[in-house]
Amino acid sequence: MNSTQSNTPVYGNLIGGEWVAGKETIPVVHKFSGETMAYVAKSSKEDVHYAVSNALETFKTKQLAPYERYEILTRAAEIFKQRKEELAFIIVREGGKVLKDARAEIDRGIQTFIASAEEGKRLAGKEVPIQGQPGNEGKLAFTIRVPVGVICAITPFNFPFNLVAHKIAPAIAAGNTVVLKPAGVTPIIALTMAQILLEAGLPGGFLNVINGSGRETGKYLLEDERIAMFTFTGSPEVGRQIKSQTGIRKVTLELGNNSPNIVHKDAPDLMKAAQLCVTKGVSNAGQACISVQRVYVHRDIYDEFVEKAVQAANSLKVGNPEQEDTDVGPMISESEAIRAETWIHEAVQQGAKVLCGGVREGAVLHPTLLIGATEEMKVVCQEVFAPVVSLIQYDDIDQALEAANRSQFGLQAGLFTSNLQLAFKAARVLEFGGVIINDVSTYRADIMPYGGIKDSGFGKEGPSYAVQEMTEERIVVINL
Ligand code: NAD
Repeated sequence: MNSTQSNTPVYGNLIGGEWVAGKETIPVVHKFSGETMAYVAKSSKEDVHYAVSNALETFKTKQLAPYERYEILTRAAEIFKQRKEELAFIIVREGGKVLKDARAEIDRGIQTFIASAEEGKRLAGKEVPIQGQPGNEGKLAFTIRVPVGVICAITPFNFPFNLVAHKIAPAIAAGNTVVLKPAGVTPIIALTMAQILLEAGLPGGFLNVINGSGRETGKYLLEDERIAMFTFTGSPEVGRQIKSQTGIRKVTLELGNNSPNIVHKDAPDLMKAAQLCVTKGVSNAGQACISVQRVYVHRDIYDEFVEKAVQAANSLKVGNPEQEDTDVGPMISESEAIRAETWIHEAVQQGAKVLCGGVREGAVLHPTLLIGATEEMKVVCQEVFAPVVSLIQYDDIDQALEAANRSQFGLQAGLFTSNLQLAFKAARVLEFGGVIINDVSTYRADIMPYGGIKDSGFGKEGPSYAVQEMTEERIVVINL
């Protein structure tokens, strides 16, 4: 923060370790009350140019040894732990996430930092046994891993701490410098994270944070040829634009999804499956890329499952995200809630039935369960990104697996079954980056490889995978 405007904090960009005020500002709104809670810089083309220059100059002139990067990242993780409540409340206010989920996000982000710090120390090449082929006698070959240079990280609103952590911690651990553009609607937590990294000893210039809208500030970043790699998490539309504008530079894209979850008749614990499908379909107001969206339930257990699912949905507390016991808070904006409500109304006109929810109060859309929804309906075939779950009955498991695959997306899917053979078959035939057995698609351990296929993007996150993406493998041959 570098000033206040009528007692409201005003944040500049963080470039070279200094706050740089913007000529213009944009408001950041409290997502439940609608009040302006801060202003951030609206970055111009010159601001973006300055941030990239700083990152490039730092990359060329300053170096941190892997153990120093480790120490800085783990020290930052310690500060996050000490300031967890303050950080969680920033997420609650600017992101609308309920308090318990915001705390859980900070805990996950801390682990992402620690795991990235450790990966930075392990990063190494390997000897290449070229003497196994004739003609290479007297030569020694090995690879080294070198950082790519300036990495631009562009992040979404829905996990504004942990998804930023998943980009900047491995990028720094691997020896790169970073220009971060957090989501325009949730920038404060990213700026606070960057400030904590400075406190933890990260020299200025290793992480520069630029605020602004995707359309303008994002465009300036895409135009800057000095950026070596883009790591993006967000919608498929923007992902496509980034891919088309970045030419032959390195890109990883973590995009949208529409997660199917299959509950087979031999599911080990139907109550647990129903509770998970509902809670992980509506937590964070359904705004997670691996939220449960489509639930395929075998006809033998369908009625019982539906009854348990409705019970689970009705037991959730909806409303103010700042209260300890709230389960489902507002969506990111009223317009997004209206969009989802319209999709529900359309589905109902086309024959679906609302079992519970379907009610909207401002940006808060109550957890909604639908039955009778079909593949043509937006709530089933597009990414709903709202607390809306469709329960769909099936007769034959092969049909359910095929239906699960009938999607443009392929990030993660879930299956509940006691049959080991079916579990293995699903792992093979489901066309997704991850298949989760006996838990929902929403399951993610931050150290596992994470990334999709089809329109869900490409490239893996998870610290040990991200440090590989964020470095080049260089071969060195020595003629002895
Ligand atoms: P978004 O695509 O609208 O915005 C993401 C980021 O891109 C923001 O920082 C935004 O300012 C920026 N941006 C927008 N237009 C841009 C442009 N033209 N050039 C450069 N940058 C631009 O996404 P969102 O609404 O913040 O997030 C929701 C989407 O993110 C959903 O589709 C969700 O599935 C996806 N998501 C995917 C994952 C994953 O790991 N696959 C994780 C979380 C969210």
